[in-house]
This record gives sequence, C-alpha cells and structure tokens, in this order.
Amino acid sequence: MEETLRILVVDDDEVDRMTVRQMLTNAGVQMQLSEVINGNDAIFAFKNTSYDCVLLDYRLPDWDGLTLIQQLCSSDIKVPIVVLTDQADEHIAVELIKAGATEHLSKSKVSSETLALVLRSAIRVHSAQMQVALAKQQLRESHEKIIRKNQELESQRQQIQLQNLKLLEASRLKSQFLATMSHELRTPMNAIIGFSQILLRPKFGQLTHQQKDMIERIFNNGKHLLMLLNEVLDFSKLEAGRLELKAEIFDVLKVINATVAEMRSLAEAKNLALLVQTDLQNPLVFNDPVRVKQILVNLLSNAIKFTESGSIWVEIRELPTNRVAIAVRDTGIGISPKDFTRIFEAFRQADQSITRKYPGTGLGLAIIDSLVRMMQGKIFLESQLGAGSIFKIELPRQVTLPNAAGASPALNLDSNEILYSAQNPHQSPSQFSKASMGYPNLKL
Ligand code: ADP
Repeated sequence: MEETLRILVVDDDEVDRMTVRQMLTNAGVQMQLSEVINGNDAIFAFKNTSYDCVLLDYRLPDWDGLTLIQQLCSSDIKVPIVVLTDQADEHIAVELIKAGATEHLSKSKVSSETLALVLRSAIRVHSAQMQVALAKQQLRESHEKIIRKNQELESQRQQIQLQNLKLLEASRLKSQFLATMSHELRTPMNAIIGFSQILLRPKFGQLTHQQKDMIERIFNNGKHLLMLLNEVLDFSKLEAGRLELKAEIFDVLKVINATVAEMRSLAEAKNLALLVQTDLQNPLVFNDPVRVKQILVNLLSNAIKFTESGSIWVEIRELPTNRVAIAVRDTGIGISPKDFTRIFEAFRQADQSITRKYPGTGLGLAIIDSLVRMMQGKIFLESQLGAGSIFKIELPRQVTLPNAAGASPALNLDSNEILYSAQNPHQSPSQFSKASMGYPNLKL
C-alpha cells in the first residue's frame, strides 16, 4: 500500500489550491494536505511540521518563489520543492532549480497524471540527493579521520625516530665507554703482568714456594684479564666499524700449527687430544694473520673449555672456487639447536645463569662473526647436545679489503707464485650465513 504523503501547498489563489488538491485526489495520491497562502506562513509551517513535498506557487503575495526557496535553504530546511509557474514565469525555471527547487511545472500544462508523476519524481530525486549528500558527508568525515590518523602516525614516527636517535647515541656512548675503559685498563694490566713476570725470574732473588705460587697466580690472572679486556676492546672497535684488516700473504698452515702448539698445554691440562688434519695443497692466503689466529684461538679455547673428555680436531681443507675451510671439532657438551643463532650475539651464552659452570664474556663468537663477515666468509655450526660441536669457517683464499685501491695481490694456485692484479675494491662481502647451521653431514 502506498504511504500517505504529507504535502504542503503554498499558493494564495484559492482556486489554484483547490485544483491541485482535486488533481492529486484524482490521481489517487494518498496524502495529508496542508495549505498556506504566503511565504511567512510556509516558513512557520516548516518549523513545526516536516513534509514529504511542497507544491509552491511562484507568485506569492509577500515573496516570490525564489526568495522562499532561498529562505528554506538558509534555514537548513530540506524538502523536495515543486514550483508551479505561470506561462510568463517559465524563463526563470532554471534559476529556481539552481536555487534548490527539485522540479518545476507550468500551470498551463498541468494535469492529474503529470502533477502526481512530477510529485513522486521530486520525492525520489530529493531522496537520492539526500543520500548523495549523506555519502559525501561520510566521505568527508572519513577523509578527515584519515588525515588525523596520518598526522598521529607521523608524530609517532617522529617520536620513534627521536627515540631511535637517543638509543643510537646511548649505544654509541656505551661502546665508547667500553673502548675507553678496556683501553685504560690495559696499561696497568700490562704493568702487573710485566712486573710479575720479572719477579718470577731467578736473578731477582730466591722466592719461597708460596711467594712463587702467589706471583704465578698474579701473572696468570693478569693474562686472563688482559685477554678479556682485549675481547671487549675488539668488540667495541668492531661495533664502531673501527677495526681494519691488515691483510698480507702468509702461510695459513704455519699460523694454525703455531696457534695449536700454543694452546696444546691447555688441552693437555684437561687430558684432551688435540689433532690437526689437512689436505691443503697451497697454504698461501691473503688475509690478516693476527685476526685469523684470533678466530682460531677463540674457537679452540671454546672447544677446550666446553669439552670434558675426548678429542679436539682442527681441520683445514681446500674448497672449490678458491676458498679454504677451517673447522674446529670437539667431543664436548654440544649446543642445543635453539641456541644456534643466539650464541653469535654479543654477551650471549647458552647458559646465562649466574651460577654457570663455564666462565667467559660471551663476546668470542660475536667477534668471530664480525671478523668472518669482514673477510667475506661464512660460519657453519653443527652440534648435538652431549655429543660435541663443529664450527666451520669458510674463507676466500684472498680477502677483498674495503678501501683497497687498485692493485691487490692475487695468488696463483697452480704455480704457488704470488701475482698482483687489479681487483674490484667495492666487491660486496658474501652474506654471512647461519642458515645452514645444523646441516646434517658436515664434510670437510
Ligand atoms: P664465551 O665462551 O665467553 O661464553 P662465546 O661467544 O665464545 O663466549 O660463546 C658463546 C656461547 O656459545 C658459550 O657461552 C657457549 O654457551 C656456546 N659455545 C661456544 N662454543 C662452544 C663449544 N665448542 N661447545 C659448546 N658450547 C659452545
């Protein structure tokens, strides 16, 4: 059933009002019709009642139709308006539509059907216009919301950036503090080590057994402390990017054998066998011998520290594409796979408890990690809890130095001759990979 429309007719001519009423009735429009005779009454009527449509005569005694429409608009009264014009007013129809009228109709052409048709169409058009206006309003609001959100995000981004800068500065200060402290502590430590060493010499007088024992302890603890200080210093230098490789051509087997010889007494003190195996044809490499030795010392002292019985092997193998592998294998306590990545982070140890059995700074592997990266190498770890670990390092036979200008030495593998050739100084380091850690069959 058609809903009842509330219609307001604004016309001072009683005959015209009657005609309109008659026409709408004839057309079967369900309605509740109200009538007013001028613009003022119309405004008053709108303030008290809401209408589905207004049929407005253009010529009113107080205002013309255009003024009334403008009044309605400025009072924010929204209603479909059909303006009925005389023949003579037809030329202002466009103005009426521009001002806000929904439809206009010439009185001379009006019939029951056209009036009902125009009335319904005006209501539909008006409702569509309202929906469009509502959608536009919602769009405007969500646009404003997005702008506000964007502004919030931007201010959060700025805060995070500021926070980041503060953190970076704090981290830089921490590294600087570490570097300064370890550097400053090294001087007195060297004096302690030096003087205790001198005191141990027989020409400085005979010591009682107890005195000798105490000075030996001072000497050994001093050396241990110096090693820890050097680790901290190296780490802070690496963190600040201030550690440079001093590359030269050297015999890697010689360096490895000498390092193993130095560490042998530590292994023997724990009854551990320490073996070296190699198939290296050409032992010459271009790298920093001090840093290669440092990597091996760290790996070996870990292997000795974390192994209670059994053996430790150092294996040096030739790899395809001009690379060399150095592996340290032990039969120690092993590492759980969940710690494989963690232990390469600075100050991280598999056992983080205060009561842990094995001492250390937790910096050794972090330093190895950084050094191997600098050497464009890779580290692989294979380990099983209770069975042992293998740390394998793959290094290019010839490292590329970041600021190498022009020529750097190239090693001729076939003839064992040392050649010089131009290298790309900006060759990017091969990516450090721990992805393959724990791969099942590590073959060396
Ligand atoms: P530190 O030895 O000073 O604790 P590292 O960075 O050298 O520090 O090693 C980090 C941790 O990795 C060690 O604390 C230990 O938990 C584990 N780890 C390293 N090497 C071995 C190994 N050969 N066997 C078992 N665990 C090891």
